Amino acid sequence: MSESDLYPMFLGPYAENADLLEETLVDFLRDHMYWRRNFHPEDPPAIPTSASHRDDYIDFVADMKQELHALSADLKKSVPFFSPRYVGHMASDLLLPGLIANLVTTLYNPNNVAEEAAPATLEKEIDVGFQLADMFGFPTDPTREPCGWGHLTSGGSVANYEGLRNIISLRYFPLALADAVETTDLRIGAAGPLERAVRDHQSWELFHLSLSEIIELRDDVADRARDRFDRDDFRRFNRALSESRLESRGLVGMHREHPDLKPPVVVVPRTAHYSWAKAMKILGLGTGNLVDIEVDENMRMDIDDLEATLESLRDKRVPVLTVVGVLGNTEFGTVDPIGDLVDLRDAFEAAGTPFPIHIDAAWGGYLASVFRSEDGGMVSRKRLQKDFHYFPSRTVYRAFDALSEVDSITVDPHKLGYVPYPAGAYVSRHGGMLDFIAQGAAYVFDVEDDPSSDTNLRDKLRNLGQYILEGSKPGSAAAAVHVTHNVLPLHTDGFGRVLKGTIRASEYFFDQIDEFRQRLDGVVDVQIPFEPDSNLVCLAINPEGNESLDRMNRFGRRLFDTMRVDASQPIQRRPFIASYTSLMAEDISPERARRVLEPLGISTDMLTEDPAPDSPQSDHVYLIRNTLMNPWLLTEDDGRNYIDRYLDYLADAIRDCRAGAAD
Ligand SMILES: *Cc1c(COP(=O)(O)O)cnc(C)c1O
Repeated sequence: MSESDLYPMFLGPYAENADLLEETLVDFLRDHMYWRRNFHPEDPPAIPTSASHRDDYIDFVADMKQELHALSADLKKSVPFFSPRYVGHMASDLLLPGLIANLVTTLYNPNNVAEEAAPATLEKEIDVGFQLADMFGFPTDPTREPCGWGHLTSGGSVANYEGLRNIISLRYFPLALADAVETTDLRIGAAGPLERAVRDHQSWELFHLSLSEIIELRDDVADRARDRFDRDDFRRFNRALSESRLESRGLVGMHREHPDLKPPVVVVPRTAHYSWAKAMKILGLGTGNLVDIEVDENMRMDIDDLEATLESLRDKRVPVLTVVGVLGNTEFGTVDPIGDLVDLRDAFEAAGTPFPIHIDAAWGGYLASVFRSEDGGMVSRKRLQKDFHYFPSRTVYRAFDALSEVDSITVDPHKLGYVPYPAGAYVSRHGGMLDFIAQGAAYVFDVEDDPSSDTNLRDKLRNLGQYILEGSKPGSAAAAVHVTHNVLPLHTDGFGRVLKGTIRASEYFFDQIDEFRQRLDGVVDVQIPFEPDSNLVCLAINPEGNESLDRMNRFGRRLFDTMRVDASQPIQRRPFIASYTSLMAEDISPERARRVLEPLGISTDMLTEDPAPDSPQSDHVYLIRNTLMNPWLLTEDDGRNYIDRYLDYLADAIRDCRAGAAD
């Protein structure tokens, strides 16, 4: 595919598709007006035609226009995400299908909390959930479990909170079951995956069932209770079970009833997004119970450290709620070895201590479309390699292949899905999960005959607000994502085409750095500190001959000052806009930092968590961070594309910073 494929997809950096956008919007705007007029045309107009001659009308319109002009003027301070001169944060130009769908749908203002408030757009949100589940390779046959499903959230943060909340809800269920059996003295025997009667299992054992097993357990307990108990006992049992659950007792109550079970931990790579710390606070788990796994020199979760940590936790009888893997790290774009993580989960499961896996793919999730063929299978690595120089590495390919084996995934349509905010998504492998997390259900089981938990997945989701963290939510977001996915289906020749361009731009950037380094020989040393796994590339820059980490970081900051968004001056003064990140000493051991620092001529023991007063900036390595998601980065002008021009600018800025150096 070539860049020309992208021509109709975006408004364009010069608003080249202005006519297309305007015509389409005006058309749908009029369409909306007629819809109003044709609802009950027999009704007399509420606003008289002469109203616009009234003084108060004229005053109001004047005020409104005044304020809107002020807003429009103010908005010119906005960050020019659309421009290929912007390589800062995870934002770019928006895909036209989603942008138009969002603006048009806002006129109708649907609320996707429930079908009653969104007959058109809630159905689309349910579809979007299945489309994302398909992209990740989850099974999506609603007549059998597991069946993937998903929905939109305000963003990746909320999707992460929800991922953790749903896992908690399921994992405490078997304990509640044991309590219900105990308090009612009603027996249900060895239900579902259990080998013995529930009360003959230790809390530790009951806590260590896989999510699939927990769903199976609930279904079987429901069947057994209906078969064995009379109506009164069924109700008594049902009530006891509901009252014993985490949802009723809270975490504190659960652990009070099961003092032999230690408080659980959540395991994340050390460089995980800060929303995980927030999740621990919000859910009452406490950030002290977030266990960090070391990252390797490629900034990927170190699987050996993960294994050792999980073994040590198991030895100490500390339960692990979930292990989180990151697919597309926010700061470094790196991809955790999800394939190895899944293998480790399988080994722990075989040893009787399974743990669920949640993948935080807020950034990298949409890249799964590059790997998915139109028929639903994985595109072979060989075939993908024809499109790129390096991508995908073996680890990255395995990571995307293993996504189908994890329990749940966070993905942000408002990042690499190129749709407007707010649009994150939570996607789960387990449709049966919905029965655990329903808000409206008075009891665990319906008194009615079992409405088999998977045949009516879609029906349940029509009451979306019952299952999710949010209440009222924009149907316009669902419309935007749905139209986008329908125009650009989530496979390698659909949406994948957009993202392949970003990988190619990143590889081009990567390939230029050798020449760039030579160009700046004698001025600075430039390194790419770790091999990019996706479309985010960091640069480490050190003044030639400098051996002080503190000085290198101060130099990096001065350089970044020429490329940052500064609300006090017109954004047009910036030739290019990038972002920065810091590799913190606490996140990477000096031994791991060796790969980054030694090529720059800086000794690894410069990096310290506890810097001396005369070198306060020695607790991190400052990096220029480039998010290469703009679709026009390789557009040429006079034989130079935007990456060439960015590097030209960077070289000049580096020379200026060195010349003006007061260090
Ligand atoms: C962006 C991001 C988040 C947070 O997503 P929001 O949409 O900003 O709430 C979480 N995790 C990762 C890996 C991210 O990149």
